[in-house]
Amino acid sequence: MGTDAAVTELMTAMGHEQVVFVADATSGLRAIIAVHSTALGPSLGGVRFWRYPSEHDAVVDALRLSEAMSLKAAAAGLDQGGGKAVVLVDDPDAVRTDALLRAMGRAIDDLGGRYIAAEDVGATPHDMQVIASETPWVTGAEGPGGSGDPSPMTAYGVVRAMGAALEELDGDAALAGKRVVVDGVGHVGAHLARLLAEAGARVAVADVHRERVDVLVQEIGAEPLPVERALEEACDVLAPCALGGVLNEKTIPRLQCRAVCGAANNQLAEATDDDALAERGILYAPDFVVNAGGIINLAEEFVGYDRDNARKRTAQIADTVRRVFELARNESVPPGRAAEQLARRRIAEGAGHRFRPGDPAPWTNGAPLRTLRPA
Ligand code: NAD
Repeated sequence: MGTDAAVTELMTAMGHEQVVFVADATSGLRAIIAVHSTALGPSLGGVRFWRYPSEHDAVVDALRLSEAMSLKAAAAGLDQGGGKAVVLVDDPDAVRTDALLRAMGRAIDDLGGRYIAAEDVGATPHDMQVIASETPWVTGAEGPGGSGDPSPMTAYGVVRAMGAALEELDGDAALAGKRVVVDGVGHVGAHLARLLAEAGARVAVADVHRERVDVLVQEIGAEPLPVERALEEACDVLAPCALGGVLNEKTIPRLQCRAVCGAANNQLAEATDDDALAERGILYAPDFVVNAGGIINLAEEFVGYDRDNARKRTAQIADTVRRVFELARNESVPPGRAAEQLARRRIAEGAGHRFRPGDPAPWTNGAPLRTLRPA
């Protein structure tokens, strides 16, 4: 089915429960909230502020991103579903009025917890604070009870996933002595490079911002790489931590790594690139399994945020990665497809269940979910 199909046709094909169109003439708000699935619990996903070529493009993006959130949460073993909100703006960098943000907060509030919002591309902490002044259904805020910046936890999850990938290759999860290329050393990549160096790996780093590379050369003795070389360096593990679409028909034939395991979202440009990696004998640890540390960290807020518990849950990413490789072997499918199967099976187990406002959430011990703050 083409993406120009009717919205309800697309929803049916992708398994969405609900799409809410929001408009507020006074503030100029135009937004779409997509709830993909609440089979496992309330849906969670970011609020994205973006300029779209057309409203239909915005709908398709919201549908795609909310489905991806469902798969990520399900694969991570979380009791929550996937959702996403997109706010249509002319300039994502322009300051938003409080009136528009408050109207967005009220629209989220109307869903009564079926959709829980978090920060996403284009959103600022201030935007989220104003939205949160109208609704309790916002997570990831800074301050008491909040989980704060997810990047260190995401990086920790990547390290654990990398251990599982090395174990699959060599029967040994140790990172010591292994050569790892971190492509993109922003929030997650820089933390990852430090953790890898601590574990004794030989770390090489690349970034379009040269000063970010220089900091790591100084601090951990990382080897600097030109951006255009990063993907073709001979190494044990390539960790893409910049943009999506980095594994594609042009780059895959040139890769010289044994495994790919990084934080970037949507690393495969096309679904078939999963097969292309397998054909080259390169082990791909699926991005949405590897980078789940961020949402695992957020989910801890629902039960009273505790950093140690969040780390314990995040460490379990290694078990999930092992299960994915095992399934891939048993079913003769590439790991990306195996991970998707794993996630879809879990969602199917909850099939027929829909979270409704006031229902207990899986983490509230039978009490109705009225606020995200634990009692
Ligand atoms: P970030 O913007 O802080 O870092 C990205 C880095 O990549 C920047 O330093 C940027 O200069 C660099 N970069 C951009 N283009 C590049 C290129 N062509 N080659 C090399 N480097 C390039 O973002 P982040 O928060 O560190 O996230 C990195 C990736 O991980 C993104 O794809 C993000 O969606 C994903 N992710 C992040 C988290 C999180 O907790 N922050 C969680 C899950 C997934």
